[in-house]
Amino acid sequence: MEQNMDWGSLGFGYRKTNERYVSNFKNGAWDAGVMTTEDTVTISECAGVLQYCQACFEGLKAYRTEDGRVVTFRPDLNAKRMADSAKRLEMPVFPEDRFIDAVEKVVHANKDFVPPYASGASLYIRPYMFGSSPVIGVKPAEEYQFRMFSTPVGPYFKGGAKPITIRVSDYDRAAPNGTGHIKAGLNYAMSLHAIVEAHELGFDENMYLDAATRTKVEETGGANFLFVTADNKVVTPKSNSILPSITRRSLMYVAKEYLGLEVEEREVYFDEVKDFVECGLCGTAAVISPVGIINDHGKEIVMQNGNKEMGPITKKLYETLTGIQKGKIEAPEGWIREIK
Ligand SMILES: *Cc1c(COP(=O)(O)O)cnc(C)c1O
Repeated sequence: MEQNMDWGSLGFGYRKTNERYVSNFKNGAWDAGVMTTEDTVTISECAGVLQYCQACFEGLKAYRTEDGRVVTFRPDLNAKRMADSAKRLEMPVFPEDRFIDAVEKVVHANKDFVPPYASGASLYIRPYMFGSSPVIGVKPAEEYQFRMFSTPVGPYFKGGAKPITIRVSDYDRAAPNGTGHIKAGLNYAMSLHAIVEAHELGFDENMYLDAATRTKVEETGGANFLFVTADNKVVTPKSNSILPSITRRSLMYVAKEYLGLEVEEREVYFDEVKDFVECGLCGTAAVISPVGIINDHGKEIVMQNGNKEMGPITKKLYETLTGIQKGKIEAPEGWIREIK
């Protein structure tokens, strides 16, 4: 393991590691792919990604278990989701089995950067793909590059999970038949103004409503919502313009199968948010980040059971899923892949 690393105080930032994976798509086929120490990319000044933003990405983590093994969590679902993103952006699909193979190669090559169990830190893996050949008339590129690097990231919650305050955004994240359901940088580029503004006003995140009617809860810029009702039901918004979070899907399974809770994936009207007692944001970065206050244009909705600390159901969900991810609790078949 890297000797001089202060794992516990790492933030969520980029730190160069040893090797990354690269494969190029040319003349209608992916090449064999290689591991490389080269951490820069050289492409045409007119590359499709630079002109028309033809790019998509994924994000997942490798964890060290208490007994020192290195594991990844459901990389098959990242592979599948990236294939869906690529199709929607008229990009070639990087084969799902090769995606998983690349995850194994990247984690294996950078094992020294997988933080120790006790640090709470992990190795973040970033697969991505972009149009690399010149495009000036609007159309898909002919050549693409798929890359996957890794970077160690610190524990998301330093000194306990403090509930955050979010605001209802007046900006929209995704159109009804647009690209909200795929993991593409373009969805993030247009959200930067809204998040910078939210931060300036003292809010941690934006709650986006559905663009068509502005009555239903969608998600934040980079995490799905989970709510808990007063009678302990776990509810998550259903919409075809939110990104299908792997963490959220896993938490819903855990709620039902491990904790015996009732779960519902359905449309959630903003009007009913005031009746929920807990709220959390789910994603790979934090697993669940508790929301304490939702500010709707000056009117505050305070989560009854979760405004001072993580609410009891959120906490159970968090502990069970992180226990599964770190090998402390038995995982459902196929969720954990050990990297040798
Ligand atoms: C990546 C992402 C999420 C979280 O997905 P996970 O698979 O749980 O990491 C949620 N919303 C958006 C918009 C995302 O890009």
